[in-house]
Amino acid sequence: VPVVELRDVYKIYHMPAGDVHALNGVTFSVMPGEFVAIMGPSGSGKSTLMNMIGCLDVPTKGGMYIDGRSVNEMTDDELTIHRRDHIGFIFQKFNLIGLLTAYENVEYPMILRYGKRDDTGRPKELLASVGIDEAKMTHTPFELSGGQQQRVAVARALANDPALLLCDEPTGNLDSKMSEQIMALLRDLNTRGRTIIMVTHDPHTATYADRTIIIRDGEIVNA
Ligand code: ADP
Ligand code: ADP
Repeated sequence: VPVVELRDVYKIYHMPAGDVHALNGVTFSVMPGEFVAIMGPSGSGKSTLMNMIGCLDVPTKGGMYIDGRSVNEMTDDELTIHRRDHIGFIFQKFNLIGLLTAYENVEYPMILRYGKRDDTGRPKELLASVGIDEAKMTHTPFELSGGQQQRVAVARALANDPALLLCDEPTGNLDSKMSEQIMALLRDLNTRGRTIIMVTHDPHTATYADRTIIIRDGEIVNA
């Protein structure tokens, strides 16, 4: 069963100046364990597509299935719970909470899910697994380099052990050395079975994926 499947999906934004056709009949699916890159020019529909895969938005028309279930048959609450428990998000700007330490940033999604602070040691294990040493775990994001912040963000994305990681320009704010390190980390997570869908502008970053989907004017231009 695909992790996500789109069948002839359209997304139309109704704007005062007229309709914007952000997605025009998009069909594709991602199987468990795949590492897929999505590339395309600005305004081509990448964010719209990622928002749908991330259960933040639904198609205007067409079929979309998450783990085999039609999103048309899921309530907003079910989509929210799916997003919280089964998908990890990684962003270009890291999006860590500045008032929290690295440790607390990783623990936060677990608190949202379980309603209490962690007593399993998982945040520390995750931070260690992405190369954040014990001393840095009590640092706030401002006290960490960009590469370190993105490592913390990867650990946070893994907090609830999601099957799917959605990465939006994960190397967009990193220099080439740190980019290589983050991509090696993602590659390793994928090798261990995690499905990854990643938007990138960078052709080199895309080479880490098994296949690349190219989108242009809301249409997929390769199979
Ligand atoms: P990309 O991520 O590839 O830059 P987007 O998905 O953000 O592309 O945008 C695709 C098209 O949809 C663009 O024309 C954009 O202006 C429009 N669009 C995206 N989000 C919205 C929105 N919330 N409301 C109206 N138009 C939008
Ligand atoms: P990296 O160590 O990932 O190559 P840098 O060279 O930017 O990144 O950082 C070197 C060290 O300085 C890092 O260990 C980091 O903890 C620390 N550091 C980076 N930026 C800041 C900052 N704004 N405030 C405090 N410490 C920082």
